[in-house]
Amino acid sequence: MKNGRPSKIVCVGRNYVAHAKELGNEVPERPMLFFKPPSALIASDEAIVLPPASSRVEYEGEIGVVIGRTLRDATPAEAEEGIAGFICINDVTARDLQKSDGQWGRAKGFDTFCPAGPAVAEGLDWRNLEVITRVNGEPRQRGSTADMHFQIPELLSYISGVMTLEPGDYVATGTPAGVGILAPGDVVEVEIPGVGVLRNPVTVAEDR
Ligand code: ZN
Repeated sequence: MKNGRPSKIVCVGRNYVAHAKELGNEVPERPMLFFKPPSALIASDEAIVLPPASSRVEYEGEIGVVIGRTLRDATPAEAEEGIAGFICINDVTARDLQKSDGQWGRAKGFDTFCPAGPAVAEGLDWRNLEVITRVNGEPRQRGSTADMHFQIPELLSYISGVMTLEPGDYVATGTPAGVGILAPGDVVEVEIPGVGVLRNPVTVAEDR
């Protein structure tokens, strides 16, 4: 989507076996869906602001799918045709609140908790995408679409059977193993080779 926000950002939990295990979870039988609010979006180079309510905010580098056409009850083949492109997404998560709240709306939904960018890349094959996360230049996560439990067309098909996916919507496809905490002063990068590097500094909320 060139201008304006997506109508929704649909996220998929536990889609990489190694990441599900590192948090003591099993890979679910069906894709596990949750949302980030569009108000959480920030661009590359904008700051992730750590909220006072959390003492453990973590990065989750993910491959984001940008929807190109309306998908409703789409088959996997139709869903594949509905992909406009790919974007780097950081599914920033307050891990302590995710555990204590039960529902994930707060943990995933703070302002600045959805860095996405730097641009939408078109014309790539979903089968061969990699995602790498670095903190202060040090590699922390590396995953590929080949490691996903549910593949991208299957995910989009499943989601479109629940809710209509609209042009410009984002689907964050899950994070590989290696999640970890962010501290003020860190710079976190999510790179999808062929798509670009999403780079965000980390700061703390100012006293109000
Ligand atoms: Zn995630």
